[in-house]
Amino acid sequence: MSSPFHPPRRVLMGPGPSDVSPRVLEALARPTIGHLDPEFVALMDEIKGLLQYAFQTENPMTMPVSAPGSAGMECCFVNLVEPGDTVVVCQNGVFGGRMKENVIRAGAKPVMVEDPWGRAVDPDKLRDTLKRHPEASLVAFVHAETSTGAQSDAATLCAIAREFDCLTLVDAVTSLGGTPVRVDAWGVDAIYSGTQKCLSCPPGLSPVSFSERALERIRDRGHPVQSWFLDLNLVMSYWGEGTQRAYHHTAPVNALYGLHEGLTMLREEGLENAWARHRRHHQALKAGLEAMGLEFVVPEAERLPQLNAVRIPEGVEDASVRRRLLDAYGLEIGAGLGALAGKVWRIGLMGYACNRRNVTYCLSALESVLGEAGAAIERGVALEAAQRAYDRM
Ligand SMILES: *Cc1c(COP(=O)(O)O)cnc(C)c1O
Repeated sequence: MSSPFHPPRRVLMGPGPSDVSPRVLEALARPTIGHLDPEFVALMDEIKGLLQYAFQTENPMTMPVSAPGSAGMECCFVNLVEPGDTVVVCQNGVFGGRMKENVIRAGAKPVMVEDPWGRAVDPDKLRDTLKRHPEASLVAFVHAETSTGAQSDAATLCAIAREFDCLTLVDAVTSLGGTPVRVDAWGVDAIYSGTQKCLSCPPGLSPVSFSERALERIRDRGHPVQSWFLDLNLVMSYWGEGTQRAYHHTAPVNALYGLHEGLTMLREEGLENAWARHRRHHQALKAGLEAMGLEFVVPEAERLPQLNAVRIPEGVEDASVRRRLLDAYGLEIGAGLGALAGKVWRIGLMGYACNRRNVTYCLSALESVLGEAGAAIERGVALEAAQRAYDRM
């Protein structure tokens, strides 16, 4: 006989999932209704409006894909890429590598623009690559590289792509809700995100948005989209305009209650205020971490406030420190990924988890565990440094 599962209490300060708002948890537990119930259809319309606000877009084709961020990524690629296409992919971390995989699996040719892990995508390299590849039809890049904590200049990259008549495909999984994302102002054509980073929800849904130009490209395809589930032409019969919704798949009804609540909280706070909150707590966390003697991986001007990657101090064992934080403090921080595995920790300040209590808790737990581990850090100064940073803001 198994007994009910009661998860331990954790503070989630890794690269996602991040702490879920109690308001969202409560919404998830409300009674399930039919996915074609008129009341549910009205909720879907509200979710669409709230997502348009979060993405800063008027795109009618804005909705959550019923699967995690990786499915949103795949949805964008399979709809916009056809066999034989050339796609420029900018890579400066793990997730750009996944974009390349998607391009190959769609039967197209990836042309890579490579930048060092921990740096933003270099716009000049993109321009040079597009000059050499006039046949390219799409430019894909990650706005917020969660594997390193680097933020790229999405407005500039999109403007360059436009100069060369390319559509743009943007990963905003970690940026949405935490740092400015302006789909219409930047001229983004396809964008995807995830609910478990800065939207204060659990994992499992991927908000996406497509411009009119992107929809034209999809309508003009010579080959059908090879994924039945992610074919936008079919998904639109359920998420499209009007009240005539046809069955496509059973929407994850309760997960959408949760998303509606998370987005409502974002709307109440206001996007600008949410962005400012992420900057403010990042500044305090940074002051504390640096006072301890920890070093950031990403140069200051290219840093994401919601994902703080710091180098693991000399002689300290990565896994045992993270394990001790989890066991003794219930605190989860992230390990390094790919080229940075074993070299960095990734401390998230995302959505509901981005608050002063978490900043203070993380600094004191880390200081204590690093002290135990014999790391050569400065002790007894981090909290005061964070406090002074808050006082200055
Ligand atoms: C988390 C993440 C993804 C993948 O999202 P899942 O929900 O884990 O599938 C994709 N891109 C970036 C930048 C991410 O941070």
